[in-house]
Amino acid sequence: CRTDDHVIKGVMVTKFPVILGHEAAGIVESIGEGVTTVKPGDKVIPLFLPQCRECNACLNPDGNLCIKIDITGRGVLDDGTTRFSCKGKPVYNFFNTSTFTEYTVVNEFSVAKIDDAAPLEKVCLIGCAFSTGYGAAIKIGKVTPGSTCAVFGLGGVGLSVIMGCKSAGASRIIGIDLNKDKFEKAKAVGATDCISPKDSTKPISEVLSEMTGNTVGYSFEVIGRLETMVDALASCHMNYGTSVVVGAPPSAKMLTYDPMLLFTGRTWKGC
Ligand code: NAD
Ligand code: ZN
Repeated sequence: CRTDDHVIKGVMVTKFPVILGHEAAGIVESIGEGVTTVKPGDKVIPLFLPQCRECNACLNPDGNLCIKIDITGRGVLDDGTTRFSCKGKPVYNFFNTSTFTEYTVVNEFSVAKIDDAAPLEKVCLIGCAFSTGYGAAIKIGKVTPGSTCAVFGLGGVGLSVIMGCKSAGASRIIGIDLNKDKFEKAKAVGATDCISPKDSTKPISEVLSEMTGNTVGYSFEVIGRLETMVDALASCHMNYGTSVVVGAPPSAKMLTYDPMLLFTGRTWKGC
């Protein structure tokens, strides 16, 4: 997913020097003292969003943001150390994982055992993009059968949102991207229509309203831009619509929006 690139571009802040990579699958090489849930040889998916199974987010059926997540970019393992170094100087971890490596060290709560038969080169996507997008539609948006959905951004995460909307039974799924090369894949995974904001001088919310007879029940921002977060909000139905922000917010940026968008009844959620 794009998140590693956000660090390179400075959109997301973490400690440098760093080994990026947070979406992966691998095999346990060895375990530390007291580790019980995995053993050498197990296939696993590293978890940038860990599961300590003890904090109040892990214990709440509606929660998933474990307190052990390194959302502030501390860049170290739970014991405050990093196990990477270069010429005697520390090299930091990214999101408790650092998977652009052949070997990495993670906390036990940052890894999940998977089926022995799972093909690693495919299930790595469950480490971020697929779970994020699919969950955004099913668990956060709670898309209903027969509904109309609009998905802004057709990268790996946006495509996974489309799959979630389809599996929830949405009858119309509109993909929105500046890059028309993304349309073919989006349609292959379930988009019924695809549009580019470049093709109209009208605001995209108006284009979507006209296309659908003003029935967009769910919209998803899967890009990570402030303007498209507000565009997506304005694109869902003014009364019963739900808009989910999936894209990572650019660090140190504030968002301005017209509160009237919420006053009429829209729901705005993050995930
Ligand atoms: P991506 O870069 O592959 O896809 C983004 C798409 O948006 C591209 O196809 C691009 O052409 C399109 N786009 C860019 N600007 C646009 C605009 N103004 N209007 C319309 N389309 C535009 O990214 P991705 O890997 O799919 O990730 C999407 C976002 O989700 C990123 O910001 C990523 O950091 C974030 N993310 C968040 C979570 C989470 O936990 N909430 C998890 C994973 C990824
Ligand atoms: Zn990611």
